Amino acid sequence: AVAVLRLGHRPGRDDRMTTHVGLTARALGADRAIIAGATQAAETVRDITDRFGGPFEAEVTDSPKAVLREWDGRIAHLTMYGERVQDVEDEIRATRDDDGDPLLIVVGAEKVSFDVYEAADWNVGVTNQPHSEVAGLAVFLDRLFEGRELDREWQDADQQVVPKATGKKVVDPDE
Ligand code: SAM
Repeated sequence: AVAVLRLGHRPGRDDRMTTHVGLTARALGADRAIIAGATQAAETVRDITDRFGGPFEAEVTDSPKAVLREWDGRIAHLTMYGERVQDVEDEIRATRDDDGDPLLIVVGAEKVSFDVYEAADWNVGVTNQPHSEVAGLAVFLDRLFEGRELDREWQDADQQVVPKATGKKVVDPDE
């Protein structure tokens, strides 16, 4: 199982970013998003899961430090200061294949405290340039799953997009 922990949400300023972390986690193959202090973002992600399918869990935590402390598995913290994703991705994938340990992927907002760097099994840079938690998460998940997440089948969807070269087609998969 793969979960994403979103730290450091600043109400107002980070609303869209935090929602996009959750939506990106869902769309690109994670099983769960744990969001520190952003109830609305978790609700939006649940609403999308209800409409477009799952399984995917979105939950809110008041204590991200407890989530990190109590996590029974490995932790990969995405940070521009970390080791290069292309150098550590095989090792991260191998530990998942070997023991099936759940993986927690951590992304921040503003400054991430040093505790998180220490709690992580890997601090991972998707390039060592500053950019975005959404972009970092997307590239990391795609590398972790080696592109297989793009073929995922969704369950219990009310709406399914039919890919088209032009225009928009959405159907109810049960009809
Ligand atoms: N300057 C902040 C710090 O020092 O902790 C980080 C701010 S950045 C806008 C927000 C988040 O985006 C980071 O916490 C990290 O998870 C992610 N991020 C930004 N650039 C990244 C990179 N090159 N590789 C991986 N993650 C990155």
